[in-house]
Amino acid sequence: MAERTLAIIKPDAVAKHAIGDITRRYEEAGLHPKAIRMMRLSKASAEGFYAVHRERPFFNDLTTYMCSGPVVVLVLEGVDAVKTNRDLMGATDPKKADAGTIRAVHGASIEANAVHGSDSVDNAQIEIRYFFSESEFS
Ligand code: ADP
Ligand code: MG
Repeated sequence: MAERTLAIIKPDAVAKHAIGDITRRYEEAGLHPKAIRMMRLSKASAEGFYAVHRERPFFNDLTTYMCSGPVVVLVLEGVDAVKTNRDLMGATDPKKADAGTIRAVHGASIEANAVHGSDSVDNAQIEIRYFFSESEFS
């Protein structure tokens, strides 16, 4: 079923000029961009986005890292978009990610792991609304 998910190309991947390669992987997997924005997150906006992780020991480092440089935020649409994207991304820790996944190819560390992807259809809706309004969709 056609579905939408939210992806973020994180600061490490933008810094290493991987925007094009990662976007190509989305498109070749049938995940079609409906909205794209390049931006620099504020600390407050990174904290709001990752609010579910507020109690985790890595929360402050993670939110500092997420606003350390520009990111590219995308709404991707395709069949089973949430799961398709999670499979394409690979495991959180790039060292444990399957060969050929985005994190295995581009991730630098468990924190600087190249991309974010929504983990459920419900969270995808919340995350999409966090960054985009309906008028911005193609
Ligand atoms: P995922 O992004 O695979 O859904 P989580 O939701 O568990 O992973 O974590 C959100 C983000 O927090 C990860 O993508 C990563 O950037 C960071 N992170 C997760 N676990 C750790 C950790 N143990 N140490 C440092 N950063 C972490
Ligand atoms: Mg997650």
